Amino acid sequence: MHYGYFNGTIAPTDQLAVGVTDLGLLRGYGLFDYFLTYNGRPFQWDWYWERFQNSATRMHLPLLIGKEETYAVLMDLIERSGSVDVAFRFVMTGGYSADSISIERPNLLILTEDIHPVPSIQYEQGIKVILDDYVREMAEVKSTDYKRVILMAEAIRAARASDLLYQKGGEISELSRSNFFIVKGERLITPDRHVLRGITRRTVIQLAQTDFKVEERPVLLSELYDADEAFTTSSTKKVLPITQIGELTIGDGHVGPKATFLLERFNDFIKNW
Ligand SMILES: *Cc1c(COP(=O)(O)O)cnc(C)c1O
Repeated sequence: MHYGYFNGTIAPTDQLAVGVTDLGLLRGYGLFDYFLTYNGRPFQWDWYWERFQNSATRMHLPLLIGKEETYAVLMDLIERSGSVDVAFRFVMTGGYSADSISIERPNLLILTEDIHPVPSIQYEQGIKVILDDYVREMAEVKSTDYKRVILMAEAIRAARASDLLYQKGGEISELSRSNFFIVKGERLITPDRHVLRGITRRTVIQLAQTDFKVEERPVLLSELYDADEAFTTSSTKKVLPITQIGELTIGDGHVGPKATFLLERFNDFIKNW
């Protein structure tokens, strides 16, 4: 059973409720974060906390709880969940607003959830994504606004794809919920503009330092044609190979050795976390 924290109170998740004058509901004004624990410890907690704080600041929402206090809440929620490892979801909204527009006091929710791992066949075969002419607004904020990918669900299914790869004016940014990398020889290249600063992206860049030349820079669509490999990173996807982008097959269409190597490095890293 999962428990959650809401503005200072801990209760079973199904007993938590947010009121109807919340700006998240009325105006779509909200942000979130999402991460896993490994061996009972929140993965890269310092980095996730820093990002959460950064998202809140950019959204003009004050954080009314400190890092140490939040960590104690996490430990409490893990223990109550009865699982060794859980997923954590933080959700922060504009809160209740008398005039339906002004921020008074944000609402903060911290939930544990079951972890939903990516099916192993996707790691074995790689995934297909389709290009979408879109760039996320305030890309550095982990916003609760995912209407683009929800609206595109039909198109993704029709193309037998798993996700969207956003591009605007020929410049690639990221997938709907994960970051994007290409491999060319010993070079690992990832977009650095209009992207959410993924913690998995940051971890992979760190793990890759000794074996790759890492380039964080704008990436153009034209660079996909001679990419050896492509993959995406996120907290749940870890390092997930991409073998097809629209009509374009990446490399030989199979999962490549570099993505496999980085996934192994990542799995070793979390095993010892
Ligand atoms: C969450 C997310 C990512 C991946 O971030 P991680 O910290 O690695 O999980 C990338 N892009 C978007 C738009 C996201 O919402």
